Amino acid sequence: MPIHILPPEVANKIAAGEVVERPASVVKELIENAIDAGASEIRVEAREGGRRLIRVQDDGCGIPAAEVELAFARHATSKLHTAEDLARIATLGFRGEALASIAAVSRLTMLTRAAEEPTGTLLRLEAGQVVTREPRGMPPGTTVTVEHLFFNVPARLKFLRAAATEAGHIHQIVTRYALAYPERRFSLVSDGRLTFQSTGSGKRYDVLVKVYGLEVAKQMLEIGGSRVSGSAALAAQPASLQPLNLEPIVSGYVGVPSLHRANRQQITFYVNRRWIRDTSLAYAVVQAYHTLLPAGRFPVALLFLELDPAAVDVNVHPTKAEVRFSDERAVFQAVQREVRRVLVDQAPVPTMAMPPSAWPSPEWVRRQTLVEAGERTARQLAIELHRPGETPARPPGAEPSPLPMLRLVGQLGATYIIAEGPEGMYLIDQHAAHERILYEKLMAEKATASVSSQGLLEPLPLELTPLQAALVEEYLELLRGVGFQIEPFGGETYLVRGVPALLAVGDPRQALVEIIEGLSQDEELLAQEREEELVRLICKQAAIKAGQTLSVQEMQELVRQLERTASPRTCPHGRPTMIHLSAEQLAREFGRT
Ligand code: ADP
Ligand code: MG
Repeated sequence: MPIHILPPEVANKIAAGEVVERPASVVKELIENAIDAGASEIRVEAREGGRRLIRVQDDGCGIPAAEVELAFARHATSKLHTAEDLARIATLGFRGEALASIAAVSRLTMLTRAAEEPTGTLLRLEAGQVVTREPRGMPPGTTVTVEHLFFNVPARLKFLRAAATEAGHIHQIVTRYALAYPERRFSLVSDGRLTFQSTGSGKRYDVLVKVYGLEVAKQMLEIGGSRVSGSAALAAQPASLQPLNLEPIVSGYVGVPSLHRANRQQITFYVNRRWIRDTSLAYAVVQAYHTLLPAGRFPVALLFLELDPAAVDVNVHPTKAEVRFSDERAVFQAVQREVRRVLVDQAPVPTMAMPPSAWPSPEWVRRQTLVEAGERTARQLAIELHRPGETPARPPGAEPSPLPMLRLVGQLGATYIIAEGPEGMYLIDQHAAHERILYEKLMAEKATASVSSQGLLEPLPLELTPLQAALVEEYLELLRGVGFQIEPFGGETYLVRGVPALLAVGDPRQALVEIIEGLSQDEELLAQEREEELVRLICKQAAIKAGQTLSVQEMQELVRQLERTASPRTCPHGRPTMIHLSAEQLAREFGRT
């Protein structure tokens, strides 16, 4: 075929793919347009998770009748004129792509009236082509209705998730903007039901309560509202006179340390009220909580960064969800400092005074010394390997032993192990404990790329459902990295030639199917989070189950290995591995004190 320029319909469809990934992306772009239009009330409606219908109505400035068609042309925008403008973007939109993209892949109706014109316009497009245009009487503002999204892009349509999942994404988008713009009223009606509403009171805390619930909101600490006045003074000066301030003003909310989650997804950032994804900044927050949270748990944070538009590049990605800072380091440090400050100021770290050994026994003393002498080095090594980068290197010997040496007492209900330590009794969940041991072992092996894989005598054909096959495809590299020797065998069949050594004893087919079932479909997970999740799933399969009777040796070995882990008190999913009843508590219960 000779080289030729694609016809505009095809080019538009290709470009639309970058902006419109799913119904929630449409909602996002339309809300941004409403905000840029100065709307004070924004109503969102969705049917069937937005597959059937998405409608966004605003009371903003509207579009003059003469410009309505133009708004749907690619690279048509009223928000940007020159290349210099691109360097200081103060609106949410600027690429002039959203309307063109959405219209290219749907049936779209726009009703709009500019405040200064007497009547409005109705414009209807199908696959980007105008099919109807007529004047309409209406109040000022804009309503965009998008029906049958992706009707002409079967590939995309196929990849949409269940209506409930898509509705969930839409809900997330609406609440995201409501939090950023508390002075505007947002509402969301999903399949005829009002599922979210903000008051527009201007108080961010009110929206916080609506989005996170009162229980969580009560456990959030407010950051630096006071410093915002500085930025107002700055904004009052003409732009040309302002020194470029590379350091952001940080405000928002962070959870008290007792409020924690299994992953980083509750750490949220906005830059100049634009929601962004930034793993490096999330890390800054995690670091600020260092030592305050249980291992493997993550804080909840909602942070707003304000900085000179010239100090941040938002033109990085078509969906505008990633930004580049001129001085990344300054931003990182400001976030970390402000979060740490509020934590130290408002939530003093409870000093857990270690009770004096209320249960003295010479044996403890002896075993404790043993740990200090030799075994600790091994454990520290495991910590380093387990979370590279997250655990700052400590001088040897500085870390307190996370779990005392325990003496085995027995098994309970073929599920729990009873042990005693210097400070009382420990009831250990054998499954959770074994999961923790295996998790740290596997993570350590992964870190040194020495995961042991066990070849199967005969390759195992694995027939999957289309959804399962899609997941395996997505996770193929990660699965191989943890010891699965697995290859596509046509259609939805895979051939398994080897499994992680940990899984070699049981039924590998069963284990693998369970693992695939457990894989997350969340596309926003980072590769590293996916990998950790995968390792957790493997450990869950490989670990001793509840109901398994264990020999004394097995239990002793389990307890011994648990003692050596970096985080013995929780399983990789964050649930406790043990319940501790202190000697003091026991004495109290029995009325001995
Ligand atoms: P961008 O937002 O990047 O400018 P869009 O394709 O989203 O590009 O919109 C194109 C133009 O249409 C905008 O620049 C704006 O002038 C106009 N427009 C879109 N939506 C609205 C709205 N809800 N109210 C007023 N004007 C709008
Ligand atoms: Mg836009």
